[in-house]
Amino acid sequence: MSEVLILVDAVDGKVAKSTGELATYAKSIGKVNAVLFDASLVSQLGAYAIDNVIICGGIDITKFSSAPVVQTLTQLVSSKSPTAVLITSSSRGKEIAGRLAVATDSGIITDATSIDADLVATQVIFGGSTTVRSAVAHGTAIVTLRSNSIEPLGASGTPTTEEFTPTITDSAKLGIVTSSQPVVKGGRPELTEASIVVSGGRGTNGDFKAVEEFADVLGAAVGASRAATDAGWYPHTHQVGQTGKTVSPQLYVACGISGAIQHRAGMQTSKMIVVINKDPEAPIFELADYGVVGDLFNVLPQATAAITARKA
Ligand SMILES: Cc1cc2nc3c(=O)[nH]c(=O)nc-3n(C[C@H](O)[C@H](O)[C@H](O)COP(=O)(O)OP(=O)(O)OC[C@H]3O[C@@H](n4cnc5c(N)ncnc54)[C@H](O)[C@@H]3O)c2cc1C
Repeated sequence: MSEVLILVDAVDGKVAKSTGELATYAKSIGKVNAVLFDASLVSQLGAYAIDNVIICGGIDITKFSSAPVVQTLTQLVSSKSPTAVLITSSSRGKEIAGRLAVATDSGIITDATSIDADLVATQVIFGGSTTVRSAVAHGTAIVTLRSNSIEPLGASGTPTTEEFTPTITDSAKLGIVTSSQPVVKGGRPELTEASIVVSGGRGTNGDFKAVEEFADVLGAAVGASRAATDAGWYPHTHQVGQTGKTVSPQLYVACGISGAIQHRAGMQTSKMIVVINKDPEAPIFELADYGVVGDLFNVLPQATAAITARKA
């Protein structure tokens, strides 16, 4: 059976759901080996379809740039000869993947929205206008996968564990983290992890209250178009699109957003798209599974009230 390595993603002492998504793709390829640097998280990995956990000791990776992680993965690629290494498509994940591809003389595919059992990956490129299916033709397939592109499979049994102490060179420790600050969070889920995203655009005219209330009743994250972030109405960290974040939730609700190609690039792989826009000709309706032609300040409060009533 072929071996697959997945790199465990953790946020604030919790294993991220994206790890379960990587495990789900890896399961169709072969034996799933989760590479973990924080041993205290091992019990959380029992929730996902992971066969074996490789606990990497002797280095606190939070103190350094990505180089020690890359060296560890390089050594594991050499000892385990996996057919694939799957990593979450965050900016750090893509940096690690790129360096690993160079170190192992392997091909790399980034921002894939899926990978099949035969290692053919799917990417949506050029602002979403083209779907590419490709496979790595040299070395180990190093693939980064976008979050939220698959529902994680549940546990397939208790994973075995093994200890691994990587050899980290002094040069890999030259990039040090001098300080870090957790992102200030409200009670809402993280944008790229959320299964529902409600976004507001210029149509909000700077008033995100209706968007936020609707998001809260759905347990959703709040996104924004660049028109809204550039105007200072919402933080840039919430921008969805080509120069913002890429999201692929189960449900994306676009409120007062016209559907420029740069916005679409960040959301059009969402599983279901609902649009609220007062202009029936707005291009975003081309993407919509459901559309409401109307004023968001009328539609959203009614939708919020209806969902609240249903929940009661
Ligand atoms: C290099 C580059 C990168 C870019 N990157 C991004 C990016 O990452 N993300 C991004 O979003 N954009 C990006 N843009 C900007 C993009 O081209 C658009 O300008 C932007 O997406 C428009 O935002 P919008 O849809 O909110 O505003 P508009 O295009 O002005 O649309 C507003 C919409 O709101 C509707 N509306 C108005 N009032 C209401 C109301 N009361 N109720 C309901 N509907 C209403 C209008 O009918 C209209 O359709 C980028 C542009 C460039 C050049």
